[in-house]
Amino acid sequence: MTCTFCQIIDRKMPAEIVYEDEDLVAFRDINPDAPVHLLIVPRTHIDTLNSLDETTAGIAAKMVLAAKRMAELYKIESGYRLIINCGRGAGQIIFHLHMHLMGGWGRRPARP
Ligand code: 5GP
Ligand code: ZN
Repeated sequence: MTCTFCQIIDRKMPAEIVYEDEDLVAFRDINPDAPVHLLIVPRTHIDTLNSLDETTAGIAAKMVLAAKRMAELYKIESGYRLIINCGRGAGQIIFHLHMHLMGGWGRRPARP
């Protein structure tokens, strides 16, 4: 079965995409746990953080920098969390590497 996030990246499934570049796509989490809750996802299918190695770890730096830019765009740079769940024991349910960007507590849901 095809991966949910690969389907979103390929526009075969709908999602509210808020950012994309040659390496990454970011979209709103369908079930947000914060007023701003975005998922930052590499275009390449990588199942978990455990699969990164020296040749592929550069994508993690790109995800962090994209998160920083998105935090500025959504005006949550004064307080946000980045979370990568790795493995079922940590609650990972989508086995396509992704970073949660969460913030905006204490104010109404924001759009850029
Ligand atoms: P995980 O627990 O794997 O780190 O988080 C996966 C996240 O993906 C969850 O927060 C969940 O709400 C979100 N999610 C799952 N399916 C979809 C979907 O089809 N579309 C969107 N936009 N988010 C999804
Ligand atoms: Zn995938």
